[in-house]
Amino acid sequence: MNKQHKRYIFIGAAWPYANAPLHLGHIASLLPADIIARYYRLKGDNVLFVSGSDCHGTPIVLAAEKEKKSPDEIAQFYHKEFKKTLIDSFDFSYDNYTTTLTENHTKVVQEFFTKLYKKKDIEIKKQKLPFCSNCQRFLPDRYIEGKCPKCGFESARGDQCDQCGQMLDPEDLIDPKCQICNSTPIFKETEHFFLKLSQKEKFIKDLVNSSSGWRKNAIGFTNKLLNEGLKDRAITRDTSWGVDIPLGGYENKKIYVWFDAVCGYYSASLEALNKTDELGKYWENSEARHYYVHGKDNIPFHTIIWPIMLKGFGNLKLPDYIVSSEYLTLENKQFSKSRDWAIWAKDITCDFDSDYLRFYLILNGPETSDSDFDFYDFQSRINSELIGNFGNFINRTTQLIEKNFKNGIEINQKSQYLQTIEEIFESTGKLIEEGNLREALKQVLKIAEDGNKYLSQQEPWKKIKDHPQSAQNILANCAKAIICLQTLISPFLPKSSQKIANIFDNNNRSTWQYPDQEKFLVKKTEIIFQKIEKEQIEAQITKLKGGTENKQV
Ligand SMILES: [Zn+2]
Ligand SMILES: [Zn+2]
Repeated sequence: MNKQHKRYIFIGAAWPYANAPLHLGHIASLLPADIIARYYRLKGDNVLFVSGSDCHGTPIVLAAEKEKKSPDEIAQFYHKEFKKTLIDSFDFSYDNYTTTLTENHTKVVQEFFTKLYKKKDIEIKKQKLPFCSNCQRFLPDRYIEGKCPKCGFESARGDQCDQCGQMLDPEDLIDPKCQICNSTPIFKETEHFFLKLSQKEKFIKDLVNSSSGWRKNAIGFTNKLLNEGLKDRAITRDTSWGVDIPLGGYENKKIYVWFDAVCGYYSASLEALNKTDELGKYWENSEARHYYVHGKDNIPFHTIIWPIMLKGFGNLKLPDYIVSSEYLTLENKQFSKSRDWAIWAKDITCDFDSDYLRFYLILNGPETSDSDFDFYDFQSRINSELIGNFGNFINRTTQLIEKNFKNGIEINQKSQYLQTIEEIFESTGKLIEEGNLREALKQVLKIAEDGNKYLSQQEPWKKIKDHPQSAQNILANCAKAIICLQTLISPFLPKSSQKIANIFDNNNRSTWQYPDQEKFLVKKTEIIFQKIEKEQIEAQITKLKGGTENKQV
């Protein structure tokens, strides 16, 4: 690709919250970011894929109080664990995975705050907030819980309902309770800083209407909030854990964790690029492409709050693609830490290859609607679609070549089969760019399916003795298809792609285009995938159900 045509692709994956381990639902919502990043790198574009651990906010303070540790210790502990899980176990290829605890990040958050305050996008307002007379303190966010007025969820927080995603004010909660002592709070007047969403309705409306890369749920949820009318949101809290307000006289208050966390997309970019002029090529360049990848509960922060902040800061690039997943359930129930109903991301990769999980989470993931992780379905789809189809095509072909053509093979006539693959690079690439990852993966799997059919029709094993030229040509066509598959599958299954490369000693191939290569040598065949046995699934189910029983004691 011509250097001048390299695009600038920014990919921001949601910042996991550092107060509890990650479960498979988190992985499902973040995985599209890694696939998109890997794809664009293969295309030869400039990619900046960032995220980090979200380390401020009341849930971390509450967890720290419970465990008699400091909030910093809790946050650092989970940050380390997240890095191991996301990068080492699930192969997420971040260009920078950082935290909201860095000095650089604090500076960026304060700069956003100051700029927006000067522009009057932020203003001070008096507000009545829940105050616990027993604990003698204000109760921000998770310090107060009650019933959600929208959906009736019993444990909605003071800022948001985790079940329906509704942004809330503490006054909206029905029957609110202090989470420290369980008494009913009173409402007392105090001062806070507000982000003036109400005066930005037109800006957000125009942004939604002009968006072409937002998922349906992002457009729908944003329009719903617009129809209800945007309300100004308090962006400071009465807490001791968070970024300081960069104005004198507010020492007991901190900047709200959500205002803080979204700034991470910019601060992590700055940290990664180290103040070079590259930063502007991503953030002040209308030609750059910006992706935001997260679960649907994060939609309003990426489609309303962050765009308003970006504009207020001084016309930074607005989101082009909102890749917002629906929810993943587990055996038809919601993932739940308190009920211990979860597949913990760090545990499951000890039992299964992470490529299996990546494969299943894309093929049966919450891309367009809520989806369910069912262990037997997982086993069946891995064994049939990944191994029985994809792996089998590679095995059949490479074993025949290794056994019969030790000095390598060459295409002397291109088959119809290869002709169809030539076009796949473009169409699959387009699907990935649009965030349609399931369809993209299905196209790739179709190549292996067609390859198996081609082999069965052509029966090269019967021709080896009497028509070796013909057998060679058939297998060479299949080998080329496998070389294509090595590239096409690599954003989805990076480890398996590497294994295919090892079979052919083909480590140099790393561009997203139909290759010129016509000669192939099998260096050493390797069984890429191992079937999942029934016993492995039964063990998982016992572990899962055992977990809930223990918890109910
Ligand atoms: Zn709700
Ligand atoms: Zn209390």
